[in-house]
Amino acid sequence: MRKITIVGAGQSGLLLGLGLLKQGYTVKMVTDRTPEEVVQGTVMSTQCLFHTALEAERKLELNHWEKDCPQIRKIQFCATAPESRGEKIIEWTGYLDHYAQSVDQRIKFSAWMKEFETLGGTLEIRKIRSNELEELSQNADLVVLATGKGLNDQIRSKNLQRSPFNAPQRVLSLLYIQHPGQGTKMEQVFFNVIPGVGEYFVMPVLTEHGPAEAMLFEAIPESPMDCFSAIDSEEDRLLEAREFLKEYLPWEHQRLISASLLKGKSSLQGQITPAVYHPVIQLDSGQQLLAMADAACLNDPITGQGSNNATKAAEVYLDSILKRSDQPFDQQWMEATFEASWQQVQWATQWSNMMLMPPPEFVLGLLGAAGQIPELANRIANAFDDPADLFPWFADEKAAAEYLQNLTT
Ligand SMILES: Cc1cc2nc3c(=O)[nH]c(=O)nc-3n(C[C@H](O)[C@H](O)[C@H](O)COP(=O)(O)OP(=O)(O)OC[C@H]3O[C@@H](n4cnc5c(N)ncnc54)[C@H](O)[C@@H]3O)c2cc1C
Repeated sequence: MRKITIVGAGQSGLLLGLGLLKQGYTVKMVTDRTPEEVVQGTVMSTQCLFHTALEAERKLELNHWEKDCPQIRKIQFCATAPESRGEKIIEWTGYLDHYAQSVDQRIKFSAWMKEFETLGGTLEIRKIRSNELEELSQNADLVVLATGKGLNDQIRSKNLQRSPFNAPQRVLSLLYIQHPGQGTKMEQVFFNVIPGVGEYFVMPVLTEHGPAEAMLFEAIPESPMDCFSAIDSEEDRLLEAREFLKEYLPWEHQRLISASLLKGKSSLQGQITPAVYHPVIQLDSGQQLLAMADAACLNDPITGQGSNNATKAAEVYLDSILKRSDQPFDQQWMEATFEASWQQVQWATQWSNMMLMPPPEFVLGLLGAAGQIPELANRIANAFDDPADLFPWFADEKAAAEYLQNLTT
């Protein structure tokens, strides 16, 4: 059987590794943290997976938390007035055709890493530097780079046509909270937009300590929401979050009254420059590596698509490796494999990048109309599962007008 090495035990690397093991491949995974370090580490994401991605996990029988994890049945959208703080101008609820779920990546990844070893995979704990990639590629038929944001840009070159930004468009602040003794009653993702300031999301998450809630602030740099970076203490970040929400989203502040921080390292700060990279990495020796998921296409989490993309990419890569049988994993095959995954991921990328820009009038019109037209609200909500369904009508003024007209006549 062919030998595959995967660098990075995250959403895509683990799914691919476990999928290959189940097909009898010899798989080595090199990653920078032990399962114990992952589970005790900092929160990493809000990681909400929608139906298609959940189905991919189910297909590989890796949905171990499905019964315990809160089911997310709807998206509750709200936009505030640009000129008056705390006043809603758009509000609607879109119902998902199938539920979504968010399992804290710390429990998921650590459990999958252990399962990977139980199934016979070789797990090596080592932080890979770019000069160590040669050695990995000499000992495998294929090396897949699934390091997320991890390995530096020196080895990856940007696809400039597919990468419209040169700098982060949001400052991210993530906090996990609990309502002690109450778990969470939440069964939706709350998606709040404050024009010119940023976006705020809250959703239920299954953690090591039971159901909790993840709060994600997507601040436009230097806006009033960009108020967390200078704060070191997690408790003080929660205090700041309360102050901010009281002023800008008072209905969200209400929900925090009984909340406290989740035990452990429950807060993350960061910034992401969205970028699509050339997926084939050429080493000095002439050997080539294939990048997958965030290592090939990194989006800001504004539309919550990264883990979904990573799951879909792992499914495409698994299928492509299996179909390749014993033929060489050459450059042409690598490029075709990435392009097959790009066929899906491009829509999430386009949508995420659109949402980072000030919305054009016609998009505001669509979002506003969803308050009166439940079919439209449901369609936007279900686009979190299948972003391709937003195109062209969500991105093109003429198509938007035609679609709205069809809906209302
Ligand atoms: C704040 C925030 C909120 C998010 N919310 C959502 C959401 O709601 N829905 C959603 O779908 N996505 C969300 N995402 C994105 C999502 O978490 C990622 O896109 C997804 O985990 C990417 O999967 P991956 O396999 O590419 O990389 P990852 O899951 O990041 O895994 C990369 C792995 O590589 C390892 N690694 C890194 N560097 C090295 C190295 N040098 N050597 C060895 N190992 C290395 C890491 O430790 C990790 O195990 C969010 C992201 C952030 C930051």
